[in-house]
Amino acid sequence: MKNIPLVDLKAGFNPIKDEIMKAVGDVLSGMNLYLGPNCQAFETEFAPYCKTEYAIGVGSGTEAIQFSLMAYGVESGDEVITSPHTFFATAEAIVAVGAKPVFVDIDPLTYTISPEGIRENITRKTKAIIPVHMYGQAADMEPIQQISKRYGIPIIEDSCQAHGALYKGEKAGSLGDAGCFSFYFTKNLGGYGESGMVTTNNSAIADKIRLYRNHGHKSKFEHSVFGYNGRLDEIQAAILRVKLKYLDESNNKRTTVAERYNSLLKDIPLILPQEVSDRKHAYHLYVIRSVRRDKLQEYLNNVGIGTGIHYRTPVHLQPAAKVLGYKEGDFPEVEAACSEILSLPMYPELELDEQEYIAEKIKEFYSL
Ligand SMILES: *Cc1c(COP(=O)(O)O)cnc(C)c1O
Repeated sequence: MKNIPLVDLKAGFNPIKDEIMKAVGDVLSGMNLYLGPNCQAFETEFAPYCKTEYAIGVGSGTEAIQFSLMAYGVESGDEVITSPHTFFATAEAIVAVGAKPVFVDIDPLTYTISPEGIRENITRKTKAIIPVHMYGQAADMEPIQQISKRYGIPIIEDSCQAHGALYKGEKAGSLGDAGCFSFYFTKNLGGYGESGMVTTNNSAIADKIRLYRNHGHKSKFEHSVFGYNGRLDEIQAAILRVKLKYLDESNNKRTTVAERYNSLLKDIPLILPQEVSDRKHAYHLYVIRSVRRDKLQEYLNNVGIGTGIHYRTPVHLQPAAKVLGYKEGDFPEVEAACSEILSLPMYPELELDEQEYIAEKIKEFYSL
C-alpha cells in the first residue's frame, strides 16, 4: 500500500533546503528583523510578478483582506459582497472591520462568485466586492470589473489560492483595486510560518496599508492612525524570496499533475475540474465532485490516500454566521458543491505512478 498525503511539504523543501537554510541563516546573522532588507526586497519582487506597482507585506492573507477593506474606507454599517464558498477568513476580515458580509451563489463550473448574483445584491451600502479565485482559478472578472466601474465599488481580490493564476492573460492580484495573498505554508507560494501581501496600483492605498500593518507609524514616534501589529516577518520574507524564483516552475508542475489526473480519471463517473479557456488555473487544489463523496473519501483513506474537503460547511451555515441570518437553501449551488467536493492529493512533486495508484483506487471504488 502506498501512502500519499494531500500535500507533501517535505517534498517541496528538500530540493531547495540548502538555499532556504542559507537565507534563514543570513537573516539571523544580520539580526535586521524589523521590516528588514528581505521584506523590502520581496515586496519589490512580488509586485512585478503580479504586474502591479506596489506590494505591501503583511502578517497573513486574512490581514491582507482586512487592511485592504480598511484602506478603501469600509467600516461599520457597510456591506461587502463575497462568496460563501471560501475559506472562513474572507468573511472574517469583513466582520473584523465592522462590515456585513453579503453572500451570493457561485457558478458551479468554476466554484467562483456569480457576477449576476453580485449585480442583484448591490445596495447603497455596498462598499466592496471580494471575488475569491477558488482553488487557483480566477473568478469571471470582466463582468465584475464592469459592475465595479458602473457603481464605483472597489474590487478586492481574494487571491490567497491563486498565486500566478491568469485571467485573459492578466495576473491574479492585478485584476481589481487590491489583490490579497496568503503565504500560509500549503499555498502555491508558501512560507514556513504566517505571512501575506497586498498588491495594488494605487499609491495612496499602498501608503495606508503600510500604516495599518505597523501600528500607524508615520515616523518613529508618530502614530497617525490606530493600526495593528501586522508586519511581514523577515524570516518568512527571506524564505519566500527563494521560493518565488521557483513559483512558475512549480505551478507548471501542478498543471502537469492536473492534466495527468484529467486523463487518468476521464472514464470514471466523476465531475473533474473545469479549466475555462480564457484562464490559467494555478491548481492550488484539484477538486473532483462525487455524489458518493464521503464513502469515496473513506475508501481512499483506507488505502493510504490523503484527501481533503475545501470546504465541508459553507460560510453562511457556520455557527458563527448565524447572526447574519442566512439559512440552508439560500445558496443551492454552493450547498450542492459542499456535499460533493473532494480534494485529491495535489503538489508539484506528485509522481505519475502515485497518480496511477490513486486513479486505480478510485476506479476500484466505483466498480464495487
Ligand atoms: C488561506 C486563505 C485565506 C487566509 O489566509 P491566511 O494567511 O491563512 O490568513 C483567505 N482566503 C482564502 C480563500 C484562503 O485560501
